[in-house]
Amino acid sequence: MIQGIQLIILGRQGAGKGTQCGWLSNHYVVPHISTGDILRAAVKEGTTLGKLAKEIMDAGGLVGDDVMIGIIEERLNRPDAARRGYILDGFPRTVAQAEALGAMREKGPDVVVDLDVPRELVIERISARRVCRDCGSNYTAMAAEAAREICERCGGDIVLRDDDTPEAINQRLDLYESQTAPLLEYYDDRGLLAVVNGVGPPNRVFERLVTTIDSARRPHP
Ligand code: AMP
Repeated sequence: MIQGIQLIILGRQGAGKGTQCGWLSNHYVVPHISTGDILRAAVKEGTTLGKLAKEIMDAGGLVGDDVMIGIIEERLNRPDAARRGYILDGFPRTVAQAEALGAMREKGPDVVVDLDVPRELVIERISARRVCRDCGSNYTAMAAEAAREICERCGGDIVLRDDDTPEAINQRLDLYESQTAPLLEYYDDRGLLAVVNGVGPPNRVFERLVTTIDSARRPHP
């Protein structure tokens, strides 16, 4: 029986999902499962999955549904997620992925949050974001400069993500509107969607998220 929460965080790239999901994961003591992080780790390790995903990711495209569904099914069956639940970040990204998630036993979400930040603002944020090549920690361009482009957590190099070029950003945001935005309606129709304003200081956004999630979720015994 699930003891924690099953949560999906939707929102445009650059809406702050990575940071907020990390904090929510500590708050609710459930694993933060980011398909983007899983794919980036596979690229770094040079696995078959990584080789397949790299080109698609660099171009700002979407990895095939079957591959992604297989990854999530395997991850959700591990003991931490099987016991406590999950915070999904980056999955589902298509209606086909949402349907597959719904079909996994006991794995349907309790709450789906749309972390809402307008397109113009996320373009600004993504252009200014940097990431540690080794541990994936996020930095702003200013914070990266202050740290001399060296990660304060692990000593790795802080870099621009390969898919954070202007062309790839626009391609990913277009794909979000065409493929992922329909999920808002999909979950709204099922009475699961809550919209949270993602604009403002990150700690304020976090408070809004927790308040919304706590009032929307069906508690697990
Ligand atoms: P993210 O870090 O969530 O922005 O993901 C980075 C990239 O990984 C995306 O632009 C896609 O190419 C790929 N990706 C991540 N999650 C998925 C998914 N659920 N379905 C398809 N592609 C994905």
